[in-house]
This record gives sequence, structure tokens and C-alpha cells, in this order.
Amino acid sequence: MNEEKPYNESELRRINLLKSVRLKAIEGLLSRCIYKEFAPGEVIIAAGQINYLVYMILSGSVSVHVDHLEDEPLVVYERGEILGEISVIDRRPTTASVVANTPCRTLVMDEEILLLLVSASHAACRNLLNILAQRLRYGTSVISKSNVLRRQFEYYANIDVLTGLYNRRWLGEMFPEIIAKCDNGERPLVVIMADIDNFKAYNDTYGHTAGDRALYTVAVSLLGQLRKTDFAVRYGGEEFLVILPDADIKEGCLIAERLRNAVRQTPIVLHDARQLPPLTVSIGVAKMQNGQHPDAIIDSADKAMYRAKNNGRDRVCLQ
Ligand code: GH3
Ligand code: MG
Ligand code: MG
Repeated sequence: MNEEKPYNESELRRINLLKSVRLKAIEGLLSRCIYKEFAPGEVIIAAGQINYLVYMILSGSVSVHVDHLEDEPLVVYERGEILGEISVIDRRPTTASVVANTPCRTLVMDEEILLLLVSASHAACRNLLNILAQRLRYGTSVISKSNVLRRQFEYYANIDVLTGLYNRRWLGEMFPEIIAKCDNGERPLVVIMADIDNFKAYNDTYGHTAGDRALYTVAVSLLGQLRKTDFAVRYGGEEFLVILPDADIKEGCLIAERLRNAVRQTPIVLHDARQLPPLTVSIGVAKMQNGQHPDAIIDSADKAMYRAKNNGRDRVCLQ
């Protein structure tokens, strides 16, 4: 190797594109590459640009960013990696920006040198295929990770964190669909509104944390009485809405009584194992009328629930 070159043979041997390549055989091509240094923070490749250059990192580390440069990098590449090969091969704008993290020393080749290199060396050709395969695999794993995240976001967007029941957002989106599935009233559907009795006093007596635990316990009691095809929603602070598709009013009342009994028989167990007395709920039951608007069905159940309150609480009233 030429002593004057600002890089040495062992640095070249670490470049993944040159693995097992006879350096002597490509000396002419390497001498046409340009040696370039980048300071920390300097942009090596900007996203959305046409790029003609492949950078081989001799030393240092770079970050690859798909969004803003201030955001977390998608990936960090160290010495031995190459950059920019995809946009050079497909001649389409770059999809990511690459920024130097540390002082970076690179050896840069253009499209022509890259093509000559893979024509001259089977090993280089295989290395390039390997690098592209790795990029593809990495892209697939990023997609699968982002799918997992999307599912998590969807879950939390629809679930009330305190009780684990569906939330109001879910209800607004899904109740019309559930009604449509019951042929807009051709098949029966019952809605139950349950409101915890004197919950303000419970909070005042035992504290807000105990109140939270009580809400969770009531939610679990409700869920324990439902079929897999039913839905339980945290409608408000201490109000729960239960949707029973394909249930008639008689079944609805039976289930409402079961819910009421389950709540009044379940003590609230705190995290330190202390037991607080059970709560009671007042319940209103309404059946869907043909073509009824979702809000109107909920209003009917709500009105029935208020009747249960006025009649003395801890009871079930029909619409
Ligand atoms: P009623 O029998 O007439 O329904 O009386 P109530 O006390 O249950 O009704 P009110 O509407 O006066 O009070 C509801 C209480 O529910 C007040 C509020 O602090 C409590 N609450 C609402 N959301 C939460 C919550 O997430 N955690 C706790 N601990 N309490 C809550
Ligand atoms: Mg209430
Ligand atoms: Mg209440």
C-alpha cells in the first residue's frame, strides 16, 4: 500500500463491501476513490436528494435518521459499514439522512466505480448482495416492530386504563357498528346503564386510591357476568354501560340483576389486603327500538337508571 494514503490496508479489510476481496486486484479502482472526512454533526447524506456516491466508513460512527435530525436515529452505523448504496443502485432520491456522530473518515466511490468493482470481483458482488439483503431484513423488522406499536396504540386508544373496559372513544366508534350487526333493530339488543351508588361518599370516606380500586373491582364483577359477545364500557367516572347483542328485554333484566348482585357481594380488596365494604349500583335497562339512534338507546337506559336512583338505589329499573 502507498504510505502516503490517509488510510491503511487493515481499515480497508474491515469494510464489509471489500470482505475477501483481493485488494491488489482492485488497486486501480481504490485509487479512483476519494478520501473524505466529516466533522461531528455534519450531514453526509441528506434525505430526498439524488445521490451518486457510496461512502465506506473507515473510522467513526454515523446516525441514520428517517424523520427530523433531532429525533432518535433509526440506526447507527460504525466503521466497516457502507452508506448510500441503495440510492446509487436504484437512482431514486434518498429516504434517510446520514449524520456523522464522531469525526468520520470515509472513502467515497461513485456509481461507475461501484459497478466496475462488482464486475471485477465476485466477492465484492456477493458482499453487495449481502448488504442489500441485510437492509431488506432490517426494513422488514422495522415494519413488524411498528405494527406491534400500532396495535398497542390502538389498544390504549380504546381501553380505559383504570378498569380495562372499553372507553367512550370505542363506544362512539363501535356502537353504531354493533347496532348495524343487529340489523338496526331486526335482531334484539339491550343496553344496561349502571351507576355506582353514593360513590362520592365512598371516596370521601376511604380516599381516592381506594375509590380507584373500587372502580376496578366493580368492572371485574361486571365482566364476570357477561358473555364473550357482550361489551362493557366505562361510560363516565362511576358509570358503566353494558351492551348485550341478541338479548331480549327479559334476558337483559336477568343479566342486570346478576350484575347488581355481583357488585353488592364483592368486597373491595386494597393492595395491602385490607377489605372495604362492597358498593351497590343502580341500573337502567333499555331495549333497542327499530332504527333507533345509538344516543337515544343510551338515553333510555340512563333515564331508567335515574328512576332506580330515585326509587332508593341498588335496584334495576326498566325503560
Ligand atoms: P349517586 O348515588 O347519586 O350516583 O351518587 P354519587 O356520589 O355516586 O354521584 P356523584 O355524581 O355525586 O359522584 C360521583 C363521584 O365519582 C365523584 C367523583 O369523585 C367520583 N369519581 C369519578 N371518577 C372517579 C375516578 O376515576 N376515581 C375515583 N376514585 N373517583 C371517581
Ligand atoms: Mg354518576
Ligand atoms: Mg353515582
